[in-house]
Amino acid sequence: MTPGDIRLLVATVAVIGCDSASPAIPLRDGPLELSVRYPGSTPLVLAESVATWGSVGSGRAHLRVNGHRVRVEPNGAFLGWLPVPPGPAPVLEFEATLDGRTIREELPLDRALPATPSSAPIPMHPMHGWVRLRRLPSDTADSATQWRPVASRWYPGGPLALALPLGARLPVDLRTTDAVRVRLTEGIRPWVAAIEVDTLATPRSDPVSLGPVRLAAGDEGAEVSVATPEPLASTVELEGDRLRWSIFGARHATPQVERAATADPIRAVERQDGPAGEADVVLWVAGVPGGWQVRWRAGRLTLIVREPWPAERGLAHLIVALDAGHPPAGATGPTGLHEDSVTLAVARAAARRLAELGALPVLVRPDERALSLEARLARAEEAGAQVFVSIHVNAPGDGRRPWLADGTETFFSEPLAQRLAAALRDSVAVSMGQMRRGPTVADLAVLRASWFPAALVEGTCLVLPGREAWLRTPEGIEAYAAGIVAGLARWASEVPEPIPSPSPAVRSPLRDSLPPPAPAASSATPSRYTTGPILQLQAVLAGVTPEP
Ligand SMILES: [Zn+2]
Repeated sequence: MTPGDIRLLVATVAVIGCDSASPAIPLRDGPLELSVRYPGSTPLVLAESVATWGSVGSGRAHLRVNGHRVRVEPNGAFLGWLPVPPGPAPVLEFEATLDGRTIREELPLDRALPATPSSAPIPMHPMHGWVRLRRLPSDTADSATQWRPVASRWYPGGPLALALPLGARLPVDLRTTDAVRVRLTEGIRPWVAAIEVDTLATPRSDPVSLGPVRLAAGDEGAEVSVATPEPLASTVELEGDRLRWSIFGARHATPQVERAATADPIRAVERQDGPAGEADVVLWVAGVPGGWQVRWRAGRLTLIVREPWPAERGLAHLIVALDAGHPPAGATGPTGLHEDSVTLAVARAAARRLAELGALPVLVRPDERALSLEARLARAEEAGAQVFVSIHVNAPGDGRRPWLADGTETFFSEPLAQRLAAALRDSVAVSMGQMRRGPTVADLAVLRASWFPAALVEGTCLVLPGREAWLRTPEGIEAYAAGIVAGLARWASEVPEPIPSPSPAVRSPLRDSLPPPAPAASSATPSRYTTGPILQLQAVLAGVTPEP
């Protein structure tokens, strides 16, 4: 090998290595100390191996854990991946040494108990009557947004089902100690927390008769509406080149559609009768809309459909919600850098860069104070955001090799956000010089927005010592922020591909997860809006005899 070849080899190894993009870790030669950041006091889901990270105070120190040598970085940080010792009460024994001095510490590994098997029947009791949905605010920022919907679940404590509007009256047929089952239609019966209902509601007409479907141009987008005396539960799903708006507890009383001359981006409207108790409105759209939202106001249930962002404007006047992830919670790096301080610094840097480019950034979490996930979305909506980016740095799950969490990964939930998640994954990975993963579909609270595309970015892995050291520098923060801004610029100036009709690529995850036809005995469980666990649950519930 020539010296040139060796230089090339070294450069190649530097590029493909785990900590490749991060600059050299700085030296630190403080007194010997032992700070274990992980595992902490929370019980772990123990596999055969366990990660541990923290700091020993000096890059000259040495560390052994259970006798295994663990590499100490120049700044004293360490990250180890060790077998879990055998026996019912495993312990990690740390032994840090420097200049003849030794510190020893024992850390018992507290095993998280396995989740209660779902086969244990939940006592359920028949209940007949009506409830009205209400909601308690989860924090002060959220209390200003009382109109936020109530989340329903497919079974008590189970996965989230549909968002239901405040004030809606619904019939109930079952209860547990802390949840009631509401009926949207014969086939769709999700559960809501008992504290989120008033049980003294008088019945409404069932189903509600809807007036003519009206299509008009509004301030925020095209408005499709029907007259109803009170709010009704509904869902909106993108199916190829159409939006299906399903209104529950209702029926169309008239075939009439009142249509304004223009109402972009909607090309055509059709009313359809769904299964019993469901009235559908189908809207043909020219492309993936900019977002949509259902509101009940002035006696009309109204679906507002935003036009897609005009590509020729690029970033100019684009209202960007930047969500600095955490607190509460968040990861901590080996030398104690907290995720929430990184995300706030990145959000501020990205906001500065976006403003310089003519965009209108909004910091969803502007300071160190904790903010609920719902309040983050509420603040973005109040600010008129057209796009939402949640900023995070990654950490491995319990029992996972920490290096597997390296790289840039993005997440989205609604199909309208897929293009945004892909653009951000590419641009942040390039800017930070990392491998890319995703975009991955994930049902995360901040990604459930449909009023704007919402994506979550895990820019890099905080627990890798080189990454953490880089994120302590302005250069690391700026590299992450520059990647976010480049991704937004690409997303905003891209002309989206027209959607084929109907395209599997843009189908709603809800309908993608349709189960095979349900057995006849399961008529009381959801038929269309179901996910995997519900099938197992049907079997469980079939064996449940409600107690009087
Ligand atoms: Zn996070």
